[in-house]
Amino acid sequence: MPSIPISFEFFPPKTPVGQEKLLVVRDKLAALNPEFFSVTYGAGGSTQDGTLQTVLALRESGIDSAPHMSCIGASRAELRNQLQGYKDKGIRRLVALRGDLPSGMGMGGELRYANELVEFIRQEFGQDFIIEVAAYPEVHPQAPSLDIDIQNFVRKCQAGADSAITQYFFNADAYFYFVDKVRAAGIEIPIIPGIMPITNYTKLARFSDACGAELPRWIRKQLESYGDDSDSIIKFGEEVISNMCQQLIDGGAPSLHFYTLNQAKASLAVVNNLK
Ligand code: FAD
Repeated sequence: MPSIPISFEFFPPKTPVGQEKLLVVRDKLAALNPEFFSVTYGAGGSTQDGTLQTVLALRESGIDSAPHMSCIGASRAELRNQLQGYKDKGIRRLVALRGDLPSGMGMGGELRYANELVEFIRQEFGQDFIIEVAAYPEVHPQAPSLDIDIQNFVRKCQAGADSAITQYFFNADAYFYFVDKVRAAGIEIPIIPGIMPITNYTKLARFSDACGAELPRWIRKQLESYGDDSDSIIKFGEEVISNMCQQLIDGGAPSLHFYTLNQAKASLAVVNNLK
């Protein structure tokens, strides 16, 4: 077990079987006493109810559970209602995002960027919520440069974010460089590395291309060479991710946030390898 806190991210299951499975995964991961669970949100509101129901189901384990929420495509009145609903249910932590609308839906909405959402939450609800925001050590796909992306990240922090979780990456240097730049800009909030366990090459390659995370050549080549041999992919993935997590902990990362994809095994294997 690592000496630092950990947290786990889930998505709202789409089927009753997925919902039942999630409870089993929840209990396995709750046994590690994580700091919190979080649940993703379909930008544009497509999973609003599913996100809330999943948060409530996770919370029954006794672990603090946070919905992700996005502002793109939403009005201030809709966001206010949503936040009030969360507050009424006793939710005290949020992951506040701009989000991406599905193509064809245009931009819409009254708030354009996550810094405006953070500012809105603080204006309307004061300190009622712990606010996590997103960070991109390998640069957000729409940002013209690392420096501009960092300036925009700083805005979210200055608007009142308490902590940040990064997009996943496979190169610890990108994380350390990002943290140094952010600290030089006077931001002191914790920057929590987002960790994606490696369990499937094809899906990982597709997802990484879409979200701007770089799958280094040596990892890509090795995974390609395993073909359909999923045992070898999982074994190699566990080794690579455990080593990177250990490097992050040794280099001062304050906490680790695992993208579980609603599976316990790969995250558990990594956590159990850490000192
Ligand atoms: P922002 O911080 O607003 O940044 C978006 C882009 O705009 C960046 O290029 C930034 O440089 C630029 N920018 C920011 N502020 C300004 C400004 N004031 N002026 C000009 N430019 C600006 N997506 C989902 O749909 N659902 C989820 O549940 C979800 N969870 C996530 C969790 C984590 C930890 C992470 C890292 C990402 C998550 N995402 C999720 C993906 C996220 O929604 C996308 O990456 C989205 O494109 C950006 O959201 P953001 O909050 O980072 O946006």
